[in-house]
Amino acid sequence: MPSPSDTAMVEAVATWFAREARELPWRADNRSPWGVLVSEVMLQQTPVVRVAPVWKEWMERWPTPADMAAASQADVVRAWGRLGYPRRAMRLRECAIALVAEHGGDVPRETDQLRALPGIGEYTAAAVRVFAFGERDVVLDTNVRRVIGRAWHSRPLPPAHLTRPEREHAASLVPVGSRASALWNAGAMELGALVCTARAPRCGACVLAPSCAWVAAGAPGLDQAPRRTQAWQGTDRQVRGRVMALLRDADVPVAVGGHASLGDVEPGQLDRCLESLVADGLVTLVSADRGAYAL
Ligand code: SF4
Repeated sequence: MPSPSDTAMVEAVATWFAREARELPWRADNRSPWGVLVSEVMLQQTPVVRVAPVWKEWMERWPTPADMAAASQADVVRAWGRLGYPRRAMRLRECAIALVAEHGGDVPRETDQLRALPGIGEYTAAAVRVFAFGERDVVLDTNVRRVIGRAWHSRPLPPAHLTRPEREHAASLVPVGSRASALWNAGAMELGALVCTARAPRCGACVLAPSCAWVAAGAPGLDQAPRRTQAWQGTDRQVRGRVMALLRDADVPVAVGGHASLGDVEPGQLDRCLESLVADGLVTLVSADRGAYAL
């Protein structure tokens, strides 16, 4: 049961969101559960600004799970473009196939049924329930965890792994009504993305500032928090992305090993990346003699 001050903070976030929410295509009134599901998977590791144009293309091309289930994996992976982590595209297609086979082409609203779908974890299932169906649920992404951690617990950054007490406290904050629940969940997420950011929170512009525990404590600890720096240039991830881009843009199989655009990659690293892409099912070895691959 939330306390009166909890309720006031939750309502402040919901009111702020109702006023300030960005207009995003998957938030439109005519959104479909399938569109919400696709957006949530795309947004897991890719920023909004890169997801929006790809999501629109996908919805025009594959407006229902049945449309996507009928598409080839190569077409789906190609249309994923540069969103990164392309296994998500494969999983979405597998999800569409499962929706057609097991749910008559519709997205279910029950947690168990959602969680049983390929690529749908706890977060995505809750997000679909709340944002597509207006169900009351706890949507706990890293932005929401950061807002709750700071405003309620004076914690500069959330722990690496979601803990049970953290989940239980978050659940206790969710308002009872479905609209209020959706506004709080979406609002906390938006506040974390736009205002209560990881490294440079704009507390002066935040509706929670008057009651924020972290601000009241003098905003401690952010300087000491470890920065998560991820080297990118020259990593296997980067090389995998370059191979995927090469094959995406080609209509015919490509002899990857001898391709000029990958001439700076060590042969051992290239082999390793190709092996992992084949093992992931993202690319196919078409000709071992020529070292030719395709999506
Ligand atoms: S006041 Fe600052 S730290 Fe507290 S929730 Fe708002 S932005 Fe985050």
